[in-house]
Amino acid sequence: SIRVRLAPSPTGNLHIGTARTAVFNWLFAKHHGGQFILRIEDTDTERSKPEFTENIVSGLHWLGLDWDEGPFYQSQRLDLYRQAVQTLLDKGLAYRCYCTPEELEAMREEQKAKKQAPRYDNRHRHLTPEQQQAYEAEGRTAVIRFKIDDDRPIVWDDLVRGTLTWAGRDLGGDMAIARAAKPGEIGQPLYNLAVVVDDVDMKISHVIRGEDHIANTAKQILLYEALEQPVPKFAHTPLILNPNGQKLSKRDGATSVNDFQQLGYTAEALANYMALLGWSPPDAEERFTLDEAAKQFDFARVNKAGARFDWDKLNWLNSQVLHELSPETLLEQLIPYWQEAGYEFDVESDRPWLLQVAAVVGASLTVLPDAVEMSRPLFTQSVDYDEKAQQQLAMEQVPETLAAVRDKLGESAELTEATAKDIIKQVTKELKVKKGLVMKSLRAALTGAVQGPDLIQSWLILNARGLDRQRLDQAIN
Ligand code: GLU
Repeated sequence: SIRVRLAPSPTGNLHIGTARTAVFNWLFAKHHGGQFILRIEDTDTERSKPEFTENIVSGLHWLGLDWDEGPFYQSQRLDLYRQAVQTLLDKGLAYRCYCTPEELEAMREEQKAKKQAPRYDNRHRHLTPEQQQAYEAEGRTAVIRFKIDDDRPIVWDDLVRGTLTWAGRDLGGDMAIARAAKPGEIGQPLYNLAVVVDDVDMKISHVIRGEDHIANTAKQILLYEALEQPVPKFAHTPLILNPNGQKLSKRDGATSVNDFQQLGYTAEALANYMALLGWSPPDAEERFTLDEAAKQFDFARVNKAGARFDWDKLNWLNSQVLHELSPETLLEQLIPYWQEAGYEFDVESDRPWLLQVAAVVGASLTVLPDAVEMSRPLFTQSVDYDEKAQQQLAMEQVPETLAAVRDKLGESAELTEATAKDIIKQVTKELKVKKGLVMKSLRAALTGAVQGPDLIQSWLILNARGLDRQRLDQAIN
């Protein structure tokens, strides 16, 4: 059966790259009716923080990427990893290395001087028991290293990248699998070992992760074989690049799911967009839900090349999602922004006109915070005219036009979409002015600007709030 996992390290907020990896894992699991497992890789006690775990967990929930098992915490599974280290020691596939940090540093300096790539030169691989005892008598600690033969070929069929071929010599020498500890003890198990032990224990069938892990995969394959366990399939997803083709960084404005949330992107649009970062559905349709994407997801359509971040596409998707929301749902999302902006309203008693505001601005939103400026004139008591509105109101025929609108408004019992349109039509005819002039002047008078959301709907809202007459008066005088 298909079992995949997301294995984030809680050393920062949920990164967009991790979230994209989560999307691909989730889509693959759903496509095959498999299981998606969450595992928190918190063995680095200095850099791991509970608040980052919380951020990752809540970010995944927010995106709708729910998991079937977990979260599991590596920090609670250290014994399992130590047992595996012991197994490798017992089999003679791992050994204690007593090199001091100074010795390793000197070795690296020497390699640098000879223009060689840095690697551990396996110098403690063949220590005699007497040599080991001598080091221990000196009080040295030992890391555990796993033997990697230079000539060992490592080949796998990557679901994204095709056949990948490595050799042991590419891996930097015998690899540390546990940190330094006192004689006879096994120190803190290290990343590559813990991952393999967990992926075996959790019966992971497919390891789907970023391509920055390719070298780790080569190392991990050797560990599976040493532990006599079946090797899972691997899929390495392309890096996310900024629009200039460089690795996405803080300078690009947003790198964590939180950042995008704060910019006003919806979970649905962001999840949709992340699925498109390196994948495309066969029908080339770009707007979809994760459930729809899961039906079509396949690694054959995942690109090898880095995926460039395309803000226009994300913005387009977000506007699509916002336009599809019901006014009720949109209202819930907008209320916090309006409150933050200091607008005065009562969520309960003002609900009818608040829903109308949500509906009228919803049609032109790209991101949620756009609604703050767009709806400002519908919330304030009085109106401030911008420069263009002032020019419009100072034009010939405008005061008479607005006065005529005001008079007709006084005659009509109740303002509806039909009566509002009718008033504009009648004034146009009776004063022999262009309809455009009536509309633009009315907009300037009512909202203080010559552009904005739908005029008739805005007028109806101001009418419902009893503000339209006084704004017409203000504009005429
Ligand atoms: N903990 C690793 C990371 O956050 C993930 C490793 C993996 O997926 O195997 O990069």
